[in-house]
Amino acid sequence: MGQLSLKNIIKNFGDFEVVKGVSLDVNEGEFVVFVGPSGCGKSTLLRMIAGLEHTTDGDIVIDDKRVNDLAPVKRGIAMVFQSYALYPHMSVYENIAFPLRVERASEAEIRKKVQAAAEILHLDSHLQQKPGNLSGGQRQRVAIGRAIVREPEIFLFDEPLSNLDAALRADMRIELTRLHKQLGATMIYVTHDQVEAMTMADRIVVLNGGYIAQVGVPLELYHKPQNTFVAGFIGNPRMNLLPVNVLAVTENGLEVDFNGKPLRVDVHVPEDKRSTLVGMQVTLGIRPEHVALGAGEASMSVTPTVVEQLGQQTIGYAALSEQENNFCFVLSGTQIIEAEQATQVSFSAGDCHIFDRDGNAFERKIDLSEMTAPKIG
Ligand code: ATP
Repeated sequence: MGQLSLKNIIKNFGDFEVVKGVSLDVNEGEFVVFVGPSGCGKSTLLRMIAGLEHTTDGDIVIDDKRVNDLAPVKRGIAMVFQSYALYPHMSVYENIAFPLRVERASEAEIRKKVQAAAEILHLDSHLQQKPGNLSGGQRQRVAIGRAIVREPEIFLFDEPLSNLDAALRADMRIELTRLHKQLGATMIYVTHDQVEAMTMADRIVVLNGGYIAQVGVPLELYHKPQNTFVAGFIGNPRMNLLPVNVLAVTENGLEVDFNGKPLRVDVHVPEDKRSTLVGMQVTLGIRPEHVALGAGEASMSVTPTVVEQLGQQTIGYAALSEQENNFCFVLSGTQIIEAEQATQVSFSAGDCHIFDRDGNAFERKIDLSEMTAPKIG
């Protein structure tokens, strides 16, 4: 139980098409994160699953039942919002008990379920307090407790951690991952924070302008982004994207001209594209953390305009003469580099990504099977 299918979901607000045909299957017990820039339609999609918005077209199916016309309370889902929406005059106990009282559950059942939720969420010693006396993280746990007692098949979270400070967010990320493991329920989580997505998700759905740009396990999105949008969205600082020309299509991929020298990158080149690629401009992607100091397989001289020393990392930003965008590199540890001084950097062909003129990736020839283990053992 807790299997969800979205079938070609479309949502218009007046003439404005916000969700443009989203299809997705979420497996029972899966933790799926919707991520994307502001306005891409993630909250609208979640609200449609919850039944808080009508769909303009398409089917929402939960456990083989079309639920488009079912009231939110009948869908077997519970939603946790960014604003905790707690009743300030009620104790933590009564806030968590609230949905059970609406359902007219017995006092004994309420006590049992509230106590169980409080234990899971480490709220046992706060049950008689009012929300005003709790920290932001504790308040969000109360809101989650209120969802847990309903025993939903599917939990929906809409940016639940955005009101918390960075340290609390990190703690809550771990708690939510544990909670998911413990409850075994299906969870769908909306965020614009890629760290939350990467750390908590079994699978991430990257949305862009109402479309799905890619669905995959977190490391798949990092190592095999299917397009320049996902390549730029996942990873911080963003992947460097550099124009290069194709010199040859080789047995294993493409040979491109990097800085006047041939660079062979192992990628899958579809049969029908082989004959048209030579001489074409494509985009070479290299992540800042894959750039090293000194000469290497692909070398270039950059003059950083800004150098950030973080102690555990040194980050340089250089303007490349023929391009508007900055070239960024991240070196581990403290490296003595000065701004405005030419510095040689390099990277390996094995770390490169190649995208065609439409921004679609040629699939990299790397094996991800060992990188996709479950999050908690
Ligand atoms: P954010 O991260 O900023 O919350 P989001 O990806 O969750 O963004 P949505 O809240 O789903 O985006 O909104 C998508 C688009 O739909 C936005 O342009 C928003 O202004 C618009 N929109 C959302 N709700 C309504 C509404 N009730 N009426 C009209 N337009 C709406």
